[in-house]
Amino acid sequence: MNSLKSIFRPIKPTNINISFKPDELISNSQKLMLELGLIRQSANGLYHILPFAQRSIDKLISIINKNMMEIGAQKITMPILIQSKLWKTTNRLSKNLEDLYILKDRKSKEFLLSPTHEEVVTNLFSSDPTTYRQLPLMLYQIGTKFRDEIRPKLGIIRSKEFLMKDLYSFDRDQESAIISYNKVCQAYEKIFDHIGVKYIKVDGSSGMMGGSQSHEFHYPAEVGDDTLFQCKNCGFGINKEISPELVKCPKCSSVDIKCTKAIEVGHTFLLGTFYSEAMCAKYSDLDGTLKPPYMGSYGLGVSRIIGASVECLSTQNIIQWPRSLSPFTVCIIPAKEGSIEENVSQNNLSGLYNNLIEIFGDDIIVDDRTHMTIGKRFIEAKKLGFPFVVVMGKKINENPSLYELYDSSSKKSDYYELNNLINFLKKQCLEQI
Ligand SMILES: [Zn+2]
Repeated sequence: MNSLKSIFRPIKPTNINISFKPDELISNSQKLMLELGLIRQSANGLYHILPFAQRSIDKLISIINKNMMEIGAQKITMPILIQSKLWKTTNRLSKNLEDLYILKDRKSKEFLLSPTHEEVVTNLFSSDPTTYRQLPLMLYQIGTKFRDEIRPKLGIIRSKEFLMKDLYSFDRDQESAIISYNKVCQAYEKIFDHIGVKYIKVDGSSGMMGGSQSHEFHYPAEVGDDTLFQCKNCGFGINKEISPELVKCPKCSSVDIKCTKAIEVGHTFLLGTFYSEAMCAKYSDLDGTLKPPYMGSYGLGVSRIIGASVECLSTQNIIQWPRSLSPFTVCIIPAKEGSIEENVSQNNLSGLYNNLIEIFGDDIIVDDRTHMTIGKRFIEAKKLGFPFVVVMGKKINENPSLYELYDSSSKKSDYYELNNLINFLKKQCLEQI
């Protein structure tokens, strides 16, 4: 039985030595996640991901893996330490020095802590002769990335070390590369649809990546660093970085344009042959000639999606998760020890739990801190944002026993007999799928 009592959740204010700098912006999600023991600051811009938030990240990773498998992308893991000479071949080292962590090994060889893997994956591709028959090829990984942020902020939304999913595509020609590009964009849309937080897809900037075509995925939020222009008529959107002003929509000519602050959570780039040419990566084509593959690069900010989802949906005091990413779907609150409901509550608990396991697997947690009143535990369960809370309170002693079910999406409670409760939750679970 998952027990809330045993979940590691340090919530005392952090050590004074690593308190927030006065100019650091504290966002609502950061405040809630710290207060409720989901994340903990290790140093400025660096966070521990604690068990609740880790479960949420693991759920997101399985959504990503499923969708990557569907488009035939293969999961790998590349080293985080990158020889900086690889970045010299593409001339990216000199341009981005201040954002990079650079270090030397005992033989004085220079390395980067990876912020992105274009050079490494291109080097990997060129390490073995490839033919056109092996293309298109899509490789992805989910791992830690680093950026020496000048001003880390918003908790895990903008930290110095973060979890990214990055994918790289290799194709024979531009036409095929565009097909791969669209395939990945569609998979990203499916992932964001599945997560369930309203997102905005806009034309993006190529930034440090170079390349010809790019899209960005954003969650709208006041604390976001990006500003987006969106046509209210056709939905076309563009980042202010690319078009500092948008008076008229280039697609439908409407002048009904709205401006939104947002957090970037995904980015796709059609790279062309910039990296393959710079690094002499080649494949042999049908006629035997050696050609540089057309590449694409695609990122999802995994830890950032968790922080940004909480930021978008929560109120000041209560976390609201997208149901797909909630650390647990159901929280059960049994009666307080020594209360007149304790006996019946204890007798019914394992039956309830076993019924729910059949619907939700291990996605249920029992708040077994029965030395606390139901009221106190219920307030905290609401704050933690469990989609459903089942309370075994006063009416558990009625015949038949009645269970109180709180639904965080409607913010309403109702009483159910066991069978009706199970049927209701079963239906909710099916709707989610
Ligand atoms: Zn338009």
